[in-house]
Amino acid sequence: MENGIDMYDTFLIKYGEIGLKGKNRNIFEDALAARIRGVLKGLEGEFEVTKERGRIYVRCAGSWGYDEVISSLTRIFGIVGICPVVVYETGDFEKLKSDMLDYVRKEHPGSHETFKVKVRRVNKAFPMTSMQLDAALGEAILNEFPDMHVDVHHPDIMFDVEIRGQVSIYSKVIPGPGGMPVGTNGKAMLLLSGGIDSPVAGWMVAKRGVTLDATYFHAPPYTSERAKQKVIDLAKIVSRYTGPIRLHIVNFTDIQLYIYDQCPHEELTIIMRRYMMKIAEQFALEDGDLGLVTGESIGQVASQTMQSLLCTNDVCTLPVYRPLIGFDKNDIVEISKKIDTYDTSILPYEDCCTIFVAKHPVTKPNLKIIERSETHLKEKIDDLVKTAIETTETIMVK
Ligand code: ATP
Ligand code: MG
Repeated sequence: MENGIDMYDTFLIKYGEIGLKGKNRNIFEDALAARIRGVLKGLEGEFEVTKERGRIYVRCAGSWGYDEVISSLTRIFGIVGICPVVVYETGDFEKLKSDMLDYVRKEHPGSHETFKVKVRRVNKAFPMTSMQLDAALGEAILNEFPDMHVDVHHPDIMFDVEIRGQVSIYSKVIPGPGGMPVGTNGKAMLLLSGGIDSPVAGWMVAKRGVTLDATYFHAPPYTSERAKQKVIDLAKIVSRYTGPIRLHIVNFTDIQLYIYDQCPHEELTIIMRRYMMKIAEQFALEDGDLGLVTGESIGQVASQTMQSLLCTNDVCTLPVYRPLIGFDKNDIVEISKKIDTYDTSILPYEDCCTIFVAKHPVTKPNLKIIERSETHLKEKIDDLVKTAIETTETIMVK
């Protein structure tokens, strides 16, 4: 493979969060490198992930696939950009110049764009300064490609040239998702339903470095095995970004039926939601989670008015994070399409909340009244909650 240009085998990983310093920066970089290693381990090929002077490099060997590697890297939080790098052997300036021209010819054929060359010399043995090299390589490109022009302030193309043991040249950046590596910001419990919103909410929190556990409430036989599988499938899609998700599947049927029998029907959804939060919080505390996450957004449905949110929130001691709180449905749909959960979310299987839903649910529940209604549950509810927790099925989704 002459010059190594026929195939990339190295990627420079760009990452963000520029505010990070010192120890935090190290933790961030180590977590990102570990996550990249973990993800690539599942792919065909051999991969070496190294941290070098504030950069992360991925070197690929064996029978790896470019598209597969790129699509995996673009799902890793913390990565801002992925630069395919072409690596050349070092030599004298003539060799560097001809490698540079070779790169431009193959990577930007027929370009009319403006450019700038930026050389970094880690290998100071090279007998010219970085600025001399910028100028000399720029001139060489201008001579060879008269349609290209220099613009040092706002170039269309930035040719980054790094001289170390070898010479690396890159000019393309494939955008990553940004955010922070999963695992750098604790864990949270996602209330995951089969809808559009909660997978997006989980994804957003995970993007800030939070590891996800999840709880799903189903109501067999009122909800089907397919509805449950749909939620597992959604967890699986989200886990492509977050890593494995511990999913608790709670049988909610008896609790729902009991509430249905004992409480005013228009309060059903709110009371159910309160028990979901309580049970999810139990699992959260067991799993070491630092908060709950839901897909709620103000005013989206009756159970998400400010009054309803107050009532649901009231049963929790852990903080409840609602990353979609100010989002319109359209914005949420857009993200769900981007992260690939949308097509699964819109499959028409019944949700446990819709089955018992009242025709005219309260939209402005009063906490005192809700609490009074719940006193009708006192005979059996503790046992039912205990049984629901004990019979919960827990699986690792990956
Ligand atoms: P989603 O699209 O996330 O289902 P939604 O618009 O259908 O949301 P609701 O049904 O009111 O809204 O649910 C609000 C939130 O409560 C959900 O985003 C989710 O976090 C949680 N939730 C609702 N139903 C369930 C369930 N069956 N299991 C687990 N969590 C649930
Ligand atoms: Mg729902």
